[in-house]
Amino acid sequence: MIDVKKYITTIGILVAILILGTVIVNIFISSLAHIFGLLINILVLSIIIVIIFSTIVTYNIIKDKKVSYSLMKINLKIANLLFNSVIFIASSIGIPKNEIRKIYVKLNNTYIYNNKYNFNYGDIIILVPHCVQKNSCKLKVTNKIENCAKCGLCNIGELIKLKEKIGINIFIATGGTLARKIIMENKPKAVIAVACERDLISGIQDMKHIPVLGVFNKRPNGPCVDTFIDIYEVESAINFLTGKKISTKGECF
Ligand code: SF4
Repeated sequence: MIDVKKYITTIGILVAILILGTVIVNIFISSLAHIFGLLINILVLSIIIVIIFSTIVTYNIIKDKKVSYSLMKINLKIANLLFNSVIFIASSIGIPKNEIRKIYVKLNNTYIYNNKYNFNYGDIIILVPHCVQKNSCKLKVTNKIENCAKCGLCNIGELIKLKEKIGINIFIATGGTLARKIIMENKPKAVIAVACERDLISGIQDMKHIPVLGVFNKRPNGPCVDTFIDIYEVESAINFLTGKKISTKGECF
């Protein structure tokens, strides 16, 4: 569940900081250089207008209202520029960073879902975090997912069945460095990344040259332990990127 109010509150504080900063600068420079003060005011006013524009577009996207493709694209670029400042302000006022990260993943996914793709299964990589594997399982699946015995205690078995049915590439990444290495070596045309909010954001920001659809893992046992995946979310991401349809049993038609 995305709480857009927390995002708007954070943006409101960012705008207030900009206005306050400009007032202070004006007080100090008014007697020094009039033209310099004017330029500062125009610059800050432009930034505030851009931020307000981006917030309105973001709000509409989060509320699943219709937004044109080009506005989405522009907004995604602005949101990426604002990301670090917004995260910093949010955490300073006690808003969990994940609330903001969820907004950015939604902006990214909505933008991708407004494109049209026709990839082959082999063009796509699914990246899964290691914490999806049952904590008590002793099998080493990180280097070779096929080592899984498909006992059904975690999602890894279901993912292998999917891989066997449609030939999609699935890798388990123990961290961002390994995920980047997998992408560099396999050169996919698209990625379906399953991860927590923090890892999804860093993956999406790292791979701007290809579409990366983010899927949140579920964490009923807290972070990094026995997390699980809604396999239907992964299947619908595959269906979208390939333009084909996998049934709930992993069969294509
Ligand atoms: S499905 Fe079973 S065997 Fe495979 S990784 Fe999960 S717990 Fe281990």
